Amino acid sequence: MLIHLEQVCSSPAIYKLYIPLTGNALKNLNCYVLTDHGESLVIDTGFRNEECRTALMGGLKELGVSPEHTKLFLTHLHSDHCGLAEYFDYPDTTIYMGEAEYKRLQGIIANISAKATWDSNAMLMAEGFPEEDLRTATETNPARIFMSSRPFPVTFVHGGDILQVGGVKLEVLSVPGHTPDQMILYLPEQKILFSGDHVLFDITPNITCWPGVRDPLGDYLKSLDKILTYEIETVFPGHRNLSDKTLPQRIQEIKRHHKRRLSEVREVLRAHPGANAYEVASHLTWSLHGATWETAPKSQQWFAVGETIAHLNHLRASDK
Ligand SMILES: [Zn+2]
Repeated sequence: MLIHLEQVCSSPAIYKLYIPLTGNALKNLNCYVLTDHGESLVIDTGFRNEECRTALMGGLKELGVSPEHTKLFLTHLHSDHCGLAEYFDYPDTTIYMGEAEYKRLQGIIANISAKATWDSNAMLMAEGFPEEDLRTATETNPARIFMSSRPFPVTFVHGGDILQVGGVKLEVLSVPGHTPDQMILYLPEQKILFSGDHVLFDITPNITCWPGVRDPLGDYLKSLDKILTYEIETVFPGHRNLSDKTLPQRIQEIKRHHKRRLSEVREVLRAHPGANAYEVASHLTWSLHGATWETAPKSQQWFAVGETIAHLNHLRASDK
């Protein structure tokens, strides 16, 4: 049975809110709420749709936390994490987000309002993604449909900053990779990590291509090593289930996944010299739920080609 609201830590009090992402392979977002000495911190929000809003606001109400008077921390610009941030735009609420990440988000919101195409689509088209399919993939992409409808006031955070919620100290860690400037939170005294989408347990975080970023996978692998240097006993991931696995165990698995993927990409390139990323992706193994590459939804191909470009870029960057 799904538990909508669950206390996952008693000291400090931390609650996990199950925010359903119906129809999405991610299944749910974990929104965390930390409360201490009359102060509260909400971490991530869910998509900007009715289902997520009802779950989030209902859960906050149960906890006695008001969006009009709290702190909200947004780990990264994906709409399943910051889609509802505009509902926290009140004078007594502080919304924290990484500076570069927020600036990129502003660009994306402006781009959607102008009904323009994603900036990254140019990269996919250059790698062979058919223009018509790209349009379908973009229009049906929940990342775009459920994005914040407008910019909102943000207090910028940077790696190394310390936030205070009641008597609890939280350190901001900069972990580029999944997005160019994702920030996550670490509680040094309690050895707790809110890992955002940097480390997930039931699924592998998606690594894709970004305009202006040379090697996102290289950045990601470095950010995995970086968090290994912190003393961490408990990890609260941004999606799906908590795990008994240790952080080093899970990081090993994720690294192994990318290593396998990189050698698979190398093999495809050997068999199909000069192939572009779209062609390479069509030869890689994906879990397409019974569909073939040709019949897979365009939105899934969009994720797959983005991921393939990230792996190709990493091979290029490491060959030098
Ligand atoms: Zn996410």
